[in-house]
Amino acid sequence: MNMENNPLQNIIIELREKRWTYQEIGDTLKISRQRVHQIYKNYTPVPWNKKERDGVMVALGSKCKVCKTTRNLEIHHKNGRTNNKKKNLVLLCRKHHREKETKRQAKKITKEVKYISKTRIQKKEFFEKAVWDLKTQGKTLREIGYILGKSHNWVWLIVKKKL
Ligand SMILES: [Zn+2]
Repeated sequence: MNMENNPLQNIIIELREKRWTYQEIGDTLKISRQRVHQIYKNYTPVPWNKKERDGVMVALGSKCKVCKTTRNLEIHHKNGRTNNKKKNLVLLCRKHHREKETKRQAKKITKEVKYISKTRIQKKEFFEKAVWDLKTQGKTLREIGYILGKSHNWVWLIVKKKL
């Protein structure tokens, strides 16, 4: 087994947790999708083998908690990926998993906005940076608007300025 410890591995693991696709990560890091997959495969994201994983899926009801689909299911950790207790796990389809992560990000941004209101950091700069960070993460204008609590049009005006 290849025990290579690639410096990109931690970044890739982090982005996979944010539901980025191999393609999106490859494009951002300027390496091929196959290479991203190869580096990522040296890391086991969840300490379960396929059989155990299937068992967890069954225990969680074998369908998305939101839309009840039985396709493209993923195990979502409510808090911290190392806690594999049933209480911390939810079964979601890929779409709803991504939506959950978007909401999580929105919460984080709200906290940051509260913080900058108390400090002297420029709000405008913060929002412009946030728009570009989220855009780099592959979020749509609509998703960015949702996360920042702004309209789709407001996001577009910021994006347009830099194009
Ligand atoms: Zn769903």
